[in-house]
Amino acid sequence: MTNPADVLDHWVDGKPWTGESTRTAPVYDPALGVPQRSVRMATASDVGAAVAAAAAALPAWRESSIATRHRFLLNFRELLNARKDALAAILTAEHGKVLSDAAGEIARGLEVVEFALSMPHLLKGEFSQNASTGVDVYSVREPVGVVGIISPFNFPAMVPLWFFPIAIAAGNTVVLKPSEKDPSAANWLAELAADAGLPVGVLNVVHGDKEAVDALLTHPDVAAISFVGSTPIADYVYRTASAHGKRVQALGGAKNHMLVLPDADLDLAADAAVNAGFGSAGERCMAVSVVLAVDAIADDFVARVAERMQGLRTGDGRRGCDMGPLITREHRDRVAGYLDTAAADRARVVVDGRESPIDGDPNGFWLGPTLIDRVPVTSAVYRDEIFGPVLSVVRVEGFEHAVDLINASPYGNGTAIFTNDGGAARRFQRQVNVGMIGVNVPIPVPVAYHSFGGWKASLFGDAKAYGPNGFAFFTQEKAITSRWLDPSHGGIDLGFPRNS
Ligand code: NAD
Repeated sequence: MTNPADVLDHWVDGKPWTGESTRTAPVYDPALGVPQRSVRMATASDVGAAVAAAAAALPAWRESSIATRHRFLLNFRELLNARKDALAAILTAEHGKVLSDAAGEIARGLEVVEFALSMPHLLKGEFSQNASTGVDVYSVREPVGVVGIISPFNFPAMVPLWFFPIAIAAGNTVVLKPSEKDPSAANWLAELAADAGLPVGVLNVVHGDKEAVDALLTHPDVAAISFVGSTPIADYVYRTASAHGKRVQALGGAKNHMLVLPDADLDLAADAAVNAGFGSAGERCMAVSVVLAVDAIADDFVARVAERMQGLRTGDGRRGCDMGPLITREHRDRVAGYLDTAAADRARVVVDGRESPIDGDPNGFWLGPTLIDRVPVTSAVYRDEIFGPVLSVVRVEGFEHAVDLINASPYGNGTAIFTNDGGAARRFQRQVNVGMIGVNVPIPVPVAYHSFGGWKASLFGDAKAYGPNGFAFFTQEKAITSRWLDPSHGGIDLGFPRNS
């Protein structure tokens, strides 16, 4: 271990906090293959203390003026923008994604902070004057209370930023439980929020695993849970937190298909498949993992993708490479195992990432970009979310065949069509049961003023992340019917109130 004495604490009440946890977990630099520090793993009582801090901060924060909360967001946005290079370095050191990709992640997180700045407008409520004679009706949005946010390893900054700026803008207080695999970004963000003037206790961070998550899901003072991670855990989180009376949004895994029709510009489509398949080593929930290539152009398309892959440099994200390592050794080995599965299932391995040259430390968790053609849809290579730099090609007869496959998938996160036929694109968008669709756009992550989320096993609950859905999720509506009494309102009438 580079520095075994360096143990990352929780962040509670505006400062680092040890809690009672004695258990720790190592935090690796995946490009070096050795732990850089370790992180405390919260007990249920540590989580209880963080929730208590958030609950104590809630009355004052929910009463704070819109101007106060708005000003905090403005300061936070400015500081994040000014210091983003330091955050990018943390992301590369703990996640492994290359520096330019880390900068992209932060840019998308910043967009959500900028969207959250629309809060004075979005929290305005509605007013109907004289809904009945002399009666006014108005509705207002109020915070839900203490919010628990549980985030995955693959976007250690962006996913927390999808949620906490909006939750805080709406007057809630937060306990964030980031992934234990790359936890430092969460503390960095919490410290930045403190520098931007956020009162103590409004944003807290606890580190840990299932024990910490379970404590959040079942804590009586937590009103809402926002979760992002794999589908089995999202399903579990949704069921457990709902059973404990909480509002829940749980975003799960994905298996995203990209359909290439014969009339597409094959060079642009091949560029897109390589970018979306291998960016962030395929560890993105919106990565393209399957190309559906119509038979007529499939050979040509596979050749173009393979040619582009020869130019990709895999290695240490600090050295200007295109693609970094995988998150852990176990995950790297699991992903590499799909190459054996592919061979056993008689798919054709066109580019074998195990043989890629690596510009990095030999102990890093490396697997180069991999292309597998003629993958049978019965193979685990097609069915499983691999979450690595493995691009599968499935050959399809045509449009209907492709749409049937997409709709048969248990996931419904993202999909894309590449074509120059507007009618086909429109039919595609209407017919696929998927939450986010790209037309000649391979990674259709919606801008921050729309909302992000999939269908089916990619999202449990009825609210997507950020955008208008974000403000709806983190607020509850009150409708007020008001009449200022005067003598004309007297009299007894037990009938159901009618408007006149
Ligand atoms: P994960 O499900 O292993 O972990 C997510 C979070 O849950 C982490 O904070 C982790 O500590 C916690 N956790 C892990 N095991 C748990 C358990 N048994 N009980 C309770 N909590 C537990 O996911 P990951 O490997 O960190 O992230 C990758 C996954 O996240 C992929 O499946 C990816 O598709 C998905 N993801 C989805 C989206 C989306 O928007 N739909 C975005 C990013 C990532």
